[in-house]
Amino acid sequence: MTEPGISVIGGGITGASVAYHLSKETDRPVTVYEQRDKLSMETTNKSGAFVGYWGHEPPGRLQMMDYSMRLYNRFLDDAQTNLSYHFSPRLQVATTDDGVANLRERFKQNLGATIEEEGITTGMRRSPVQYLPSNRLAGSFLLPELELGPVMGATYSGNLGHLWPARQAAQEFVLRARENGVSFETGREVTEIVTKGGRVSGLIVDGEEIETDEVICTAGPWNKNILRAVGIDLPLKHTLGPMLVLQPQKESPHSLFSLKHEETGYYMRQNPDGTVFLGNNPGSYESAGTEYDPGDVTNTVPEELRSEGLEVAKSLLPYLEGANVVDEWVGVRSLTPDTEPIIGWTSIQGLSVASFNASGIQLSPCAGKIIANQVVHDEPTAYYESVSVSRFEGYGDYR
Ligand SMILES: Cc1cc2nc3c(=O)[nH]c(=O)nc-3n(C[C@H](O)[C@H](O)[C@H](O)COP(=O)(O)OP(=O)(O)OC[C@H]3O[C@@H](n4cnc5c(N)ncnc54)[C@H](O)[C@@H]3O)c2cc1C
Repeated sequence: MTEPGISVIGGGITGASVAYHLSKETDRPVTVYEQRDKLSMETTNKSGAFVGYWGHEPPGRLQMMDYSMRLYNRFLDDAQTNLSYHFSPRLQVATTDDGVANLRERFKQNLGATIEEEGITTGMRRSPVQYLPSNRLAGSFLLPELELGPVMGATYSGNLGHLWPARQAAQEFVLRARENGVSFETGREVTEIVTKGGRVSGLIVDGEEIETDEVICTAGPWNKNILRAVGIDLPLKHTLGPMLVLQPQKESPHSLFSLKHEETGYYMRQNPDGTVFLGNNPGSYESAGTEYDPGDVTNTVPEELRSEGLEVAKSLLPYLEGANVVDEWVGVRSLTPDTEPIIGWTSIQGLSVASFNASGIQLSPCAGKIIANQVVHDEPTAYYESVSVSRFEGYGDYR
């Protein structure tokens, strides 16, 4: 009797990475079901696609980054690739006393560093991160376009950049997975995971039951609802990720830092095509409190976020005065209680999941490897303790 195939729900970057890694480890047929007509058009395509080190990475995350960076380096080395990488070091700037206090506190907590009052303080993790009071900025970096007046303090993360275009990062996995025989079925919505006696027995796809004994749920912000229907309540929350694409009246001739405003969560980044991303990432799991059905979220950025964001952007980068909004969208970010991803086995045999804390572009390469090892070789992997949902109270140990 032939074994049934392995099924992946969702054709974003995570589903593509999982499919690619499975296809390297097994001869069983692998099928990815994607509800949209095109792959990777949801959270993946709406992402900033930053990859690198902010300075607050715990040891488990560093291990995952190591694998992911090596794999992206291989993709970028491929002469055929349309994927490109652009350095965009981050200055996180505070413009109030409270903002400076928060920035300094986080820097000290994350890096165990003490801060000298007037100097530059450097903390190490995978790459140096610095704290700079405002009076040290102009002497430390060339900062064309940045209005230093309102800035009272900043942290600098140098080893940071972005992949461009974001969707192409996923396509790199899709191309290779297809070469290995993976089937990507678009326009195919999974409406039910069928279970019998605590294990997966099939999927309902567009009304048709498909036999399968291994399902990997990589449906981005849809994961929460899909798994809830089979009795698994993942500790995930959502925030909205609004993005405006600005076309400046006159493009800057300079290469700019990416910026994040500590007090409001707005961030700005110069794109390779001269446009500027203006996004908002308001912060933590504790303050999130909301769950969104991504299917109900429209791509129009709410007016108050649009006007507040544009004000913040112009106050820090005056060259954006008069910039036109040429595109916009709203993505849905998933957040986990400890900011680390949830990857791997669940309480239902044959059902695995991968969900991220707004870091899926960075970490999905390694997520694919972890899931392939668990599903094909029954190996928990060295990452198990830091990524399994079992680390949270109320969830079992699935080894
Ligand atoms: C504004 C914003 C900025 C971000 N910036 C960064 C960043 O700089 N760096 C970073 O690493 N991460 C970033 N992220 C997070 C990152 O984009 C996500 O972690 C990552 O894209 C998740 O990919 P995914 O494949 O898991 O989910 P998705 O890309 O959402 O893919 C899930 C797919 O599943 C499909 N699907 C859902 N339900 C079903 C169903 N029932 N049947 C079939 N298909 C289904 C969906 O249509 C979708 O295509 C950002 C996120 C947002 C919103």
